[in-house]
Amino acid sequence: MKTDEKLSIKIIRKIVFISIILICMLTIGVKASKSDVNYVTIIFPEGYESTVMTSNTKVSDILAENHIIILPDEVVNPDANSNIDFTKTIKISKITDEKEIISEEIESVTTEEILGKYVTITEKIITEQVEIPYETITKDVSKEGTETKDKVLQEGVNGLKEIKYKAKFQNDEEIERNVISEVVIREPVDKIIQISTKVSSRSGARTTAQTPEMLQASVNGITPKVVKMNTSAYCSCARCTGKTNGITSSGASAKEWHTIAAGAGYPIGTIIYIPSLADKPNGGWFVVEDRGGAISNNRIDIYMGSHQSAIHFGRKNLECYVYQ
Ligand SMILES: [Zn+2]
Repeated sequence: MKTDEKLSIKIIRKIVFISIILICMLTIGVKASKSDVNYVTIIFPEGYESTVMTSNTKVSDILAENHIIILPDEVVNPDANSNIDFTKTIKISKITDEKEIISEEIESVTTEEILGKYVTITEKIITEQVEIPYETITKDVSKEGTETKDKVLQEGVNGLKEIKYKAKFQNDEEIERNVISEVVIREPVDKIIQISTKVSSRSGARTTAQTPEMLQASVNGITPKVVKMNTSAYCSCARCTGKTNGITSSGASAKEWHTIAAGAGYPIGTIIYIPSLADKPNGGWFVVEDRGGAISNNRIDIYMGSHQSAIHFGRKNLECYVYQ
């Protein structure tokens, strides 16, 4: 019996031993299966990477457990429904990025065009004040064919207007400008010029001032009519013009020791030489350039620069050489 007992104990020991080994093996197997974790790298579209520890192998599960949601414009590689491959990498990328690059390549866009897309264009409202130039209006009141003079009746003044532009700037350089509004702040004032007939002598004829020499030369070869004239002097003052019936006034062009007022019998331009006045600045040579209604044909009036001179000249009967 002893040997039987010993045998049975041996068998039991073997069974226990085997059982322990089996239990150990099972435990190790379970532990091994539980420790079957992977380190998976997820690459995001922005470029950064994240390594996660997971026991899952399906891409969608790995993403879900890390709360990563794939957006409609994103694509995952490998596919969400497949398992991770040996690289243990999940790449998320943007669909549009790839498409854009492809389209640009197809259209073979120039460098300038691509750069142009990144050039900043800004819009500004610009307000400017601009002068409005005045206009010149001419009023011609002269008679044709006569000497004229200009007189400014009204001075011109520039106006002012405010212009608003919408301007486009590309890198601070203005590339486009459109007028939005124009407001006149101040209207311009026209310049008005009046052109009138020049008042030279009373009649308007023979206006050129001739020297005594020229007068003498112009009558060379003409035989004068010698007449005794009642000669007096006048000036442009009120008393004198009253004396000559107010018609005097050769004003501007009447010249001392040159101009004579004579009656209608002596046409304007008639040259008269008075020998007794040969010592005067004009050498005694005068021209009929003025009229006087009260002056008869045997009376003449010599124009003087001052009333004093006219009074001083007095009145005398002088021999006159009349060239007609
Ligand atoms: Zn006078």
